[in-house]
Amino acid sequence: MPNTPTASAGPILRGTPLGLDRPGDPPILRGTPPGFPGPLRGVPRTPGDRPVRRPAVFLDRDGTLVEEVPYLHDPAELALLPGVGAGGARLDAVVYCPHHPDGTVAGYAGACRCRKPGPGMLEAAAERLGLDLRASFLIGNHPSDVGAALAAGATPLFVTTGRAAGRRPPVGAAAFPSLAAAAAAVLQGWREPGPPRP
Ligand SMILES: [Mg+2]
Ligand SMILES: [Zn+2]
Repeated sequence: MPNTPTASAGPILRGTPLGLDRPGDPPILRGTPPGFPGPLRGVPRTPGDRPVRRPAVFLDRDGTLVEEVPYLHDPAELALLPGVGAGGARLDAVVYCPHHPDGTVAGYAGACRCRKPGPGMLEAAAERLGLDLRASFLIGNHPSDVGAALAAGATPLFVTTGRAAGRRPPVGAAAFPSLAAAAAAVLQGWREPGPPRP
């Protein structure tokens, strides 16, 4: 939920490593939050000095990384789901959509491209971090996660954790019982069977 009346047209990225901190220039990139692992050193360049676009794994938060708490805002209520803390992963950025279609704060109310299942958060991260979305994955536990991944050209992995426990995956996504299982599939080069998406 937005907590400031300052308008922002795009998704907000935090914890980015690239030194592109320009508050007020959406999408906004800010310094690495306390406790986050070390930053990247910058986007690699080709011999022709073009950015090398890299694959990424996008992670939904609620029900994928942490237990689902309505309007989670108190760190005391933050609880990692089983197995999430293992594996040595590094978060390069935290991205969120500050908008809501039924919002009342000017600049944040209304439809936007970044609210899932829109692809805007993935697109903004790709632009700023030099990512190859078609080689990237999004792991989430809600149909809107799958929709955002497909809209961005990324591969969705549906985890049946949180409120998705016992649910079937939406069309277009494979289901995994945990984040660890989905991560293992990514590391093993998992690809969605079937024809390539447009
Ligand atoms: Mg979720
Ligand atoms: Zn948004």
